[in-house]
Amino acid sequence: MADDLRPLILLDVDGVLNPYHRQGPTWLSVKAVCDGVAFPVVLNPEHGPMLLQLSHETGAELAWATTWVEHANREIGPRIGLPELPVIPVNSGSSAPRVHPKTPPVAAYVNRRPFVWFDDDLERADRQYLKSHDNVDAFRIIDVGPRRGLRDLHVEQAAEWLTSLDGKERSRG
Ligand SMILES: [Mg+2]
Repeated sequence: MADDLRPLILLDVDGVLNPYHRQGPTWLSVKAVCDGVAFPVVLNPEHGPMLLQLSHETGAELAWATTWVEHANREIGPRIGLPELPVIPVNSGSSAPRVHPKTPPVAAYVNRRPFVWFDDDLERADRQYLKSHDNVDAFRIIDVGPRRGLRDLHVEQAAEWLTSLDGKERSRG
């Protein structure tokens, strides 16, 4: 598949890779710096390998869709074993009524590439916005609960959807 058509795997940080509480003894509890402010975060070192395997097995490209923007590449990714990833400029200030501030910049970025999006904060209005956007083709939002964060089942859902793409029926939602 040509690079510019490769599906994307979009990653949120807060509520997804950094849930409310540590979920096990192997999780890290650290301070991460964003715009000069240190925030406590909890991170699972297994998340990086899980996501890299998902990317490898499906041919999809990982990218950040988080208000941490470029700070994620310095403060989050290396701690869980992720390489530097493309960053969607979700703090760009574009907005639409009722939709999450990240949604219009994501729509502008994807440029008709299919994408899965792990996030804890998206609602019906976001799906409607994406479905009606000319720049958006197939997508699947995977709703992650912020108390526990990203789990195996979410990654399995993403793998299933990405492997079902293959130019056949393309679902949007
Ligand atoms: Mg979030």
